[in-house]
Amino acid sequence: EKRIKSENTKSTPNPKPFGKGAQKGQKPNPLLEARKALPIWPHAQSIRAALKKNNVLVLTGETGSGKSTQVPQFLLSEPWCQKCIAVTQPRRMAAISLARRVAQEMSCPPPGRVPGAKVGYSVRFDNATGPHTRVKFLTEGMLLQEMVRDREMEEYSAIIVDEVHERSVNVDLILGFLKNLLSDLENGRLKKRKNPLKVVVMSATVDVGALVQFFGEGSKESEDTQQTLHSDVSSTLVGTQQNQDISTCYIEGRQYPVQTIYLPEPTQNWVESALIHIFQIHRKEPLPGDILVFLTGREKIEKLEKLVNEYAEGLEDSLPKLLVLPLFSALPQHAQQRIFMPTPHRTRKVILATNVAETSVTVPGVRYVIDCGKSKIKEYRNALGLESLLAKPISKSAADQRKGRAGREAPGKCYRLYTEDGYNGFADRTQPEILRCDLSHALLTMVAAGIGLRDVFSFPFLDPPPRGAIERAVALLHDIGAVTEEAEIANDALTMAKFPLTPALSRVLIEAATPERNCLEDVVDIVSALSTEDIFLNLANEERKKEDAEAARRGFYRRSGDHMTLLAAVQGYLEETSDRKAWCAKHFISHRAMQNVVKVRKQLLELCQRLSLVPNSSSSVDPPTANASPEEHTKRVLQCFARGFMRNIARLMPDGSYQTLVSKQTVAIHPSSVLYGRKTDYLLFTEFVFTNRAWVKGVSAPDVGALEEVMRKVVLGDGDGE
Ligand code: ADP
Repeated sequence: EKRIKSENTKSTPNPKPFGKGAQKGQKPNPLLEARKALPIWPHAQSIRAALKKNNVLVLTGETGSGKSTQVPQFLLSEPWCQKCIAVTQPRRMAAISLARRVAQEMSCPPPGRVPGAKVGYSVRFDNATGPHTRVKFLTEGMLLQEMVRDREMEEYSAIIVDEVHERSVNVDLILGFLKNLLSDLENGRLKKRKNPLKVVVMSATVDVGALVQFFGEGSKESEDTQQTLHSDVSSTLVGTQQNQDISTCYIEGRQYPVQTIYLPEPTQNWVESALIHIFQIHRKEPLPGDILVFLTGREKIEKLEKLVNEYAEGLEDSLPKLLVLPLFSALPQHAQQRIFMPTPHRTRKVILATNVAETSVTVPGVRYVIDCGKSKIKEYRNALGLESLLAKPISKSAADQRKGRAGREAPGKCYRLYTEDGYNGFADRTQPEILRCDLSHALLTMVAAGIGLRDVFSFPFLDPPPRGAIERAVALLHDIGAVTEEAEIANDALTMAKFPLTPALSRVLIEAATPERNCLEDVVDIVSALSTEDIFLNLANEERKKEDAEAARRGFYRRSGDHMTLLAAVQGYLEETSDRKAWCAKHFISHRAMQNVVKVRKQLLELCQRLSLVPNSSSSVDPPTANASPEEHTKRVLQCFARGFMRNIARLMPDGSYQTLVSKQTVAIHPSSVLYGRKTDYLLFTEFVFTNRAWVKGVSAPDVGALEEVMRKVVLGDGDGE
């Protein structure tokens, strides 16, 4: 810490205050002191110098060192920085909260369209940017969409790719696109810009070697350049270094020693084990010292939250209070913001988090970490041809990141709810998502950005996915008509890529807009509901309420299944004009989820209009399927879903189980479905979850008639002829 203090006083990087007011001797922003104390502050000057010299900077530093909030502010006043700076984030939660924070630090209005709002954000279905936005935090998916629209990224002076270590598919695509773009600019294949485009790649851990090599390889597109290096060179790079055309910078974080305590025996019951540890720490350890618990997901978090609160009621008065704060991506903004508030007097915070707290969010005050050793990981299940989220052991580097969270402000302790042998059995690093997920969305994005199907194989991937995975994705795109029989890109592919949806759901919308189906508005309602969190409150743990809820919701339930049920609920909500909140409470429906549905719906409808997807747009007053009977209408809607999800059709087998038509896998209807426990000849599902078995959610029971066309394709392998 001494070192940091002395550097702070010694070096006066003094990032220029931004905005005219600041120059006229405005009151200094109270947050300035906090900014100055960040480990990155003394590096401001060298970061600027590095980007003056080179167009690419690879910057590593521990979580919390100030990368995401400070780097854009350091660059804003640079002479080359005339336009906007983009900062990508893997999660919407981080994009929104960083934008708010940076706006505060810059003393400008919160993100939005108002004049003077210099900081904005753009996440799926929520764009808070305006004409004056100079720093734009956006999710990786949104930047990719912008890249599809304008591959030269003319709107931007700099693109900061943050949290690269998370290695989402999207970040890998962004890196590939940027590499291509930089080399096209350099080789004169694109028109010269007034100021060169600057790229900053930021990461919490140490794959500097791989990144430097990746960007340094220039345009040599030989086989061997696709290999990646995972050398840990960054540990030797303190300060800024120049390497050919790429600068690197390593920010030393603050790290106090953290004692690691393993379980003597492995446990299956880690929620209970976490509970015991929380109370042991609370009884033994002095204040201040908050506890951060890493769990797999919302469900486990809510379970533990309930347990901790129950047990806390029985604590003797002499002990400090416990304040339990959940933290996961789907949590609303104001609830997330609570983790940044100071801990009240005589209180210990217990933050129950998913891996968002591993690297994306810095939680102040933490001295004790409890790590369950697992996280939910997206995996492609080859046999099913579907993706699923599964709780799996984390990697050593993830475990070490988690542990590090205990030692940011003082020495700490990390309780690992697994044995030392368990830790030694973890993989060194988490495998990049691109090596274990369905690539059809990635491929669609690439294709829409002008990359030919054959060129996909030579795209500069940091870790090239196996050829088979790319071929599988091409086949999936063929299924939904994004790729023609002749392996050409179909016109529809470009439309599909413009929707912030999976290719399958985009296909469903396109289908709904055809004159034969003519049910776009209703399908938009359903797709909106499928794109947000569950609108029906989950009462699985509350038996008594469950019955009331069943009764209250019965009016929405449709025999055909979940999709038409969602539609009925959304329409019920839209028809309610007086008190929607009360309406939701009465029907055990999440008001917040419904508000989101309405937001998503509005944007999808606008997008459909822009893409000319509205049939009979001149007579849009007419309900789209005014002349169809209710049965016919349901049939059409389900036909649209069948077109997008043809691999997600299962047949009832003689033994009463369901088997998918294409991959011949056994699946079961999830208890959350209105069709749970029902038998029907065919199932069509839009979601798949693998826990102890292969469950399907979002299930409908279409008539065979509705499936005829698609079945012909599935069974006979008929082409589209598009
Ligand atoms: P890094 O990108 O290196 O992980 P950040 O720039 O995100 O670091 O965070 C630097 C510091 O800024 C954090 O330690 C935290 O104290 C503060 N901070 C970041 N976001 C917020 C926020 N939304 N509200 C309050 N403080 C924040």
